[in-house]
Amino acid sequence: MLRYSFVAISIVAVINLLLTEVFLVQILLAICVVISLGIAIIWPEPLPPPPPPDLWSDAPETKDRETKICSSCGKAVDKKWSMCPYCSKRV
Ligand SMILES: [Zn+2]
Repeated sequence: MLRYSFVAISIVAVINLLLTEVFLVQILLAICVVISLGIAIIWPEPLPPPPPPDLWSDAPETKDRETKICSSCGKAVDKKWSMCPYCSKRV
């Protein structure tokens, strides 16, 4: 949409350029035509295409820490621990 308005600006500027007799106005209109046409040509689309919805679905689930159950108090403790931090017994 914005691109078409710049095209319209350049068309109007070209018409003014043909009608005017003043040299300074001709220079300004030529600059206007170049800038507006350049913007109309290189202007990017307003929004990039949305990413695919399954972009992150293949991400692996975070690996839980391996735990074991304390035999004396029943709480989960880290697997590499040899002593339970809750009841201070060997696991
Ligand atoms: Zn314990």
